Amino acid sequence: MNFHVLTLFPEMIGSVMRESITGRGIQEGLLTLDTVNIRDFAFNKHQKVDDYPYGGGAGMLMQAEPVFLAWKSIAEKLGHPVRTIYLSPQGETFSQSMAKELAKEEDLIFLCGHYEGIDERVLEEIVTDQVSIGDYVLTGGELPAMVMMDTISRLVPGVLGNEDSPETESFSESLLEYPQYSRPAVWHDRPVPEVLLSGHHANVDLWRRQQSIERTVRKRPDLLKNADLTGKEWEYVRKLKKELKEEETQHENI
Ligand code: SAM
Repeated sequence: MNFHVLTLFPEMIGSVMRESITGRGIQEGLLTLDTVNIRDFAFNKHQKVDDYPYGGGAGMLMQAEPVFLAWKSIAEKLGHPVRTIYLSPQGETFSQSMAKELAKEEDLIFLCGHYEGIDERVLEEIVTDQVSIGDYVLTGGELPAMVMMDTISRLVPGVLGNEDSPETESFSESLLEYPQYSRPAVWHDRPVPEVLLSGHHANVDLWRRQQSIERTVRKRPDLLKNADLTGKEWEYVRKLKKELKEEETQHENI
């Protein structure tokens, strides 16, 4: 996976992405990171890339031409169509399933906005996807781009040591992950659930599956509509939901 980032703050991207698991992925050649400073394409004395918005209003806007030239410098180098993602609070909300889809691409271009955003005309011309990381407004697209690249990197084969891990993680099957424990077996008078010490793999798998379902019912019932459960598991969901409702009524009556 080759990440190309158009930004006014390339050091910000490099310093985060070259650490930890993504850093190892870069060192091992499974990921590449190419940051392009949009300011390098501002052909004026002070390398200014922003200007006042037509029609007035608060703040400044990134101008179309430097953004376009920075993008073109990558697009021409690659020589084939590449998805260009503009990070924007107005975009489609990022999700694990979107990350899975994007992880299949060979190259991805991320365009990070700043100030009040970017001149609409260049967005119309070069952007294929607009993605938001949530319903709040940040100062720039760098953190959202890093959130996306981090999530996508973990899905690139070989980047995580254990290739199985993304499969059982939260959201992978529209379920949240089960609780996990490590040594010691008892900590602060809290024992690890018996079944995990039993060495009986089928029972461990069953317990984990039930825990995943239970957590999802309690914390994120909205995810269940896309979950692929057996008839027995749906029965379990109904039982849990009934118990939850009874708990809620008991609380209300206290
Ligand atoms: N005026 C814009 C609006 O109301 O839609 C917000 C501009 S914001 C201050 C500056 C930049 O931060 C945006 O161009 C975008 O790249 C990035 N940004 C801010 N919030 C974001 C979010 N929730 N998801 C993705 N990018 C975001």
